Amino acid sequence: MIIRSTAFIKSATHPGNYPEASLPEVAFAGRSNVGKSTLINTLVNRRGLVRTSSTPGRTQLLNFFDINGEFSLVDLPGYGFAKVPLAVKKDWGPMVRTYLERREQLKGVVVLFDIRRVPREEDLDLLDWLEEFEVPTIPVITKVDKISRNRRAAQVKPILEATGLPLEAFSFFSALSKEGREDIWERIEDALEL
Ligand code: GDP
Repeated sequence: MIIRSTAFIKSATHPGNYPEASLPEVAFAGRSNVGKSTLINTLVNRRGLVRTSSTPGRTQLLNFFDINGEFSLVDLPGYGFAKVPLAVKKDWGPMVRTYLERREQLKGVVVLFDIRRVPREEDLDLLDWLEEFEVPTIPVITKVDKISRNRRAAQVKPILEATGLPLEAFSFFSALSKEGREDIWERIEDALEL
């Protein structure tokens, strides 16, 4: 993927304020601190396009970005941050579920898992909704540089068990080595039918 331009389009919380453009779209979802902003910024080669979600109490928004005037990437709000107020936590489910159900140009969702963490309820809810609404899923295991390569298979076993997905379903990503960047782009391009 050659990135010619990137631009923040807008933030939204519900279908009434999603951007109107009908360009195909791929979204990113994952637990707070999983490395979502780092992955998106690495994919588009822009250090600060997406800001980190790990700020407790921050309003949760869907953030839409235009890439090359050709397609959109959407940063979905992170979940599972312990210090987020209950009211904000409660908004996450309906906000994300509604987006997955209603956004017609949504072609796929990249779902991130930290190689060191066992998936939890919100991760599994998200996978269930994607299945329910027949949105193609691109599962990615992040921060793989934290674990040596020969321990990788054993390390990801709890992730495979919790999600029920086979090892081959996952892309492996490291922001340090850039491992996985090309592979993930290929899967996004396939989903976008570019
Ligand atoms: P977000 O909350 O999901 O957007 O997570 P961030 O992208 O802000 O990343 C959370 C923390 O993990 C930051 O300190 C990042 O520098 C770090 N991080 C993200 N990706 C990687 C990675 O691939 N390898 C390592 N070692 N650290 C990472």
